[in-house]
Amino acid sequence: MSTYLGMPTLPVYGKGNLNAVDSFPTAARRELGNAQLRANLEHATHTIRDKRLRVVGELPDWEDLRSAGSAVKESVMARLPELLEEFEKNFTARGGIIHWARDADEANGIVRDLIRAEGVDEVVKVKSMATQEIGLNEYLEEQGIAAFETDLAELIVQLDHDKPSHILVPAIHKNRSQVRDIFLREMPGVDPDLTNEPAKLAEAARSHLRRKFLSSKVAISGANFAIAESGTLAVVESEGNGRMCLTLPETLITVMGVEKLLPAWSDLEVFMQLLPRSSTGERMNPYTSLWTGVTEGDGPQNVHLVLVDNGRSAALADEMGRSALHCIRCSACMNVCPVYERTGGHAYGSTYPGPIGAILSPLMTGIKSEENSSLPYASSLCGACYDACPVKINIPEILVHLRSVDVESKRGKKLPTQMDVLMKGASWAFSRGRNLGLLEKGLPLGRLAAGRKRKITKLPGIAAGWTQSRDIPAPPAQSFRDWWAKEHEDNRPAAAPAQGEKTA
Ligand code: SF4
Repeated sequence: MSTYLGMPTLPVYGKGNLNAVDSFPTAARRELGNAQLRANLEHATHTIRDKRLRVVGELPDWEDLRSAGSAVKESVMARLPELLEEFEKNFTARGGIIHWARDADEANGIVRDLIRAEGVDEVVKVKSMATQEIGLNEYLEEQGIAAFETDLAELIVQLDHDKPSHILVPAIHKNRSQVRDIFLREMPGVDPDLTNEPAKLAEAARSHLRRKFLSSKVAISGANFAIAESGTLAVVESEGNGRMCLTLPETLITVMGVEKLLPAWSDLEVFMQLLPRSSTGERMNPYTSLWTGVTEGDGPQNVHLVLVDNGRSAALADEMGRSALHCIRCSACMNVCPVYERTGGHAYGSTYPGPIGAILSPLMTGIKSEENSSLPYASSLCGACYDACPVKINIPEILVHLRSVDVESKRGKKLPTQMDVLMKGASWAFSRGRNLGLLEKGLPLGRLAAGRKRKITKLPGIAAGWTQSRDIPAPPAQSFRDWWAKEHEDNRPAAAPAQGEKTA
């Protein structure tokens, strides 16, 4: 028998709905064919970002708030183990029970056992990114437990057997008429004359959900923040469904990523200004629920918290990428992203779409996962996401870092990639003027290929990828180097007369 002491352990990467099925270019091509999706997205993202700009402009100290939010999150990451222990001590002292889950499988198993212990097979849920990330609904369904989403947009997506495409507005890809059709098809007891008026749709959802709230013994929630100094959890939401879930059932199970901690109550003040303005463009969010353990005779009497890692430690270990864990899931970055606006959230293949998803998913799953390795390239690097982020996550910088990790990880494989070949070619061409001159001799061929339209629309072989989404203009008749040589030849001053030579 061997005993290994002090052996380094491999990072535990995230599982569940973090891994894309297709690479981004494949999925984006599919989504770009959906004109209705693009129209819905353009309307919704522009409306939200205009609202956001108005309310952010009202605050003279917005930049200071962003810096404060960034500083708090940086300090949390620097002392995460210590803060988690402080939170556990305070939460437990007030009657709550903590469960630690290394990955999605462990977290799902813990939640299943807690539900079974209550002897029920139905639960209500508040919208939660963490439970989507670990695939909790799908897992519970396999185990014979029905989980009913109570957030309106989540309910629409669930009834349609679809996936959310935006972290804040999960049904952003559906319009009112599509929602009405889903309700008529899937909602038991709905009025057959239901119209697509927002008030009527909300009324139908309200009566459907009220029955669930009143009959459920167990609720599942996420959490936006956890305050270490008191062991308090916080959920912010807009519809009041969260408050119903957090107060009516006997048992409350909260699933939360380990990075959601704040050291003190006073830190919450910063985030309660940053989050609603950046997410829904509101000055304050309509419902803020805070609870600290169990209060006898008031609210749930069994209070559990499942603290999930699922790849967060791996992200934390990446010095350049760890600030992705500062994210407060406001969605401002996706509402300003030109790539997200055209492809929508499904193209990213993960619970986390848009610019934050393009860095967070590969950090949590490891860039080596073939499909997620294409995500850092799903960006024009325009920087709009960085400007919009309330906690100043430098997304473009992390995207470039992850691209370099991806390139490095593919080096040394037996077959060179298309990029390897192109870079080798470029290195040869630009290393000597004579090489570039040789290459330029092919320009007339390029003009020939461009033809009358004066553009090349299809390149052969490994270069084909370049023209898949862009044309190349016909090369000029004369290269810059030829022009330069000729120009300097013509303008060269006459040679000085040799010594002794007579001048006129
Ligand atoms: S990265 Fe920044 S802008 Fe994007 S969702 Fe997270 S906090 Fe919001």
